[in-house]
Amino acid sequence: GFKMGIVGLPNVGKSTLFNALTKTAAAQAANFPFCTIEPNVGEVSVPDARLDKLAEVANSKNKIPARMTFVDIAGLVKGASQGEGLGNQFLANIREVDAIAHVLRCFEDDDITHVEGRVDPVADAQVIETELMLADLESIEKRLQNIVRKVRGGDKEAVLQQKLMERAQEALENGQPARTVEVDAEDQKAWNMLQLLTTKPVLYVCNVEEDSAGTGNSQSARVAEMAAAEGNSHVVISARIEEEISQLEDDEAEMFLGEMGLEEAGLDRLIRAGYDLLNLQTYFTCGPTESRAWTIKEGTFAPQAAGVIHGDFERGFIRAETIAFDDYVACGGEQGAKEAGKMRAEGKAYLVKDGDVMHFLHNT
Ligand code: GDP
Repeated sequence: GFKMGIVGLPNVGKSTLFNALTKTAAAQAANFPFCTIEPNVGEVSVPDARLDKLAEVANSKNKIPARMTFVDIAGLVKGASQGEGLGNQFLANIREVDAIAHVLRCFEDDDITHVEGRVDPVADAQVIETELMLADLESIEKRLQNIVRKVRGGDKEAVLQQKLMERAQEALENGQPARTVEVDAEDQKAWNMLQLLTTKPVLYVCNVEEDSAGTGNSQSARVAEMAAAEGNSHVVISARIEEEISQLEDDEAEMFLGEMGLEEAGLDRLIRAGYDLLNLQTYFTCGPTESRAWTIKEGTFAPQAAGVIHGDFERGFIRAETIAFDDYVACGGEQGAKEAGKMRAEGKAYLVKDGDVMHFLHNT
């Protein structure tokens, strides 16, 4: 599955947000038997109205949304890269996630201490980014030393790695995160193997006071500007509101949102923003037993998409029968789509599209 790490300075609202996520997840766990929740790991459903529609059309007994994992990575403070705070463990945790949700304090509250003594989310973002850049620099320096002998020996892979590491090093020494380095498509794999922290996409989560949950405030506007300039994304939420909502039943939550003038829970927007940030998309399997959403990266071919369900489906892939979401709904389901000629047979070279309803044929 895909993992988002929640990071941020102390007292910005990380735990509040994470608790809201896991409470929602715990409520969902009742109808999701495989969901285990560890203290700092929570699995949540990806909200998708299309799944509801499909389950309705197919008259499915069960509805299983796509899942996304959030990891609460506490302990990032100034100096973390020097081993203060939780240091290395913390950095190891970040290495394992696909993207970073960076919570920024955008609310004023004199009762809640700010570690830097002022509310300035843009400066906070830089504090954390600096730690991550220092950690990357350190790991590159170590690895460059270790690779020298291999390079002298003419190891081609090592030569490429050295080239890429030097480019990352140059950017980092200029105060630029590694994600600013442009890498040729053919070098992308080797680049990813470097597992640099500052190549991970960042979603800034602006934690604003309750009254600004719908509109944002002047601080979140600054973050929005910074995110746009960096090519990262941002969402505005109020962690406090999310915590309250997570304790309500669905219909109560909807009323509460209405009263606050909000269209949708911030957590739903957060989850979806994470999805977009990671270039994830969804295909569906659909029948009377269950309708289910599956997550793939954009640009995934049919056999690999099948492999998300089961490795055997990929190995024994024969072909896929595919119906676009709109056609499935417009034709009243699989039979109708078939009769209308909207069901296509697709082979190994088919790039699965967002919203495809898939049926895989395989010889296993
Ligand atoms: P963490 O250290 O980043 O995990 O921060 P916490 O989630 O523990 O929050 C620190 C304190 O800030 C707690 O007392 C929260 O109740 C409070 N807090 C979190 N979000 C908000 C908010 O949107 N507004 C206000 N006023 N307080 C908040």
